[in-house]
Amino acid sequence: MAWRPKYKQLCAICRKNHILISSRNQFPICTSCSMKQINQPITDEKFRKMFDIDQKLYEESSFLRSIKSNYLRFGSLSEKQIDTFKRVAAELANPVQSNKNSTQKTSTQTVTNAIAAEAVVIGGNSEKQESANEAKQVKPKAKKSKK
Ligand SMILES: [Zn+2]
Repeated sequence: MAWRPKYKQLCAICRKNHILISSRNQFPICTSCSMKQINQPITDEKFRKMFDIDQKLYEESSFLRSIKSNYLRFGSLSEKQIDTFKRVAAELANPVQSNKNSTQKTSTQTVTNAIAAEAVVIGGNSEKQESANEAKQVKPKAKKSKK
């Protein structure tokens, strides 16, 4: 079975919207369906507060959706995922503030990419995953060849 790197597939839930599949383990689900999927009550108070952000932010960021859906599936998150979720949510909510510290934003973006690549990406695009791979490819250049 040959794997085509990018192709369009119908959303597996609503079977109405097409999504671009670009990753082998990407589940075919459109943004509106993944929004419905992550819109579940959370009983843990700590996580309920954490995920209680503007719905708009989830629509904007497939990263935030993937973190929430990971929590819903596994019932827990790593410290790194929690930390990055909070930072990304805060930055998306206050874009003015993050523009001031453009260097900080860049470093957060890198962490986001790394975590998005780790996480099981359920919906949306996987552009973040691709750029994370690019970042990995760039890294070894820093090491000068030793003999
Ligand atoms: Zn759908």
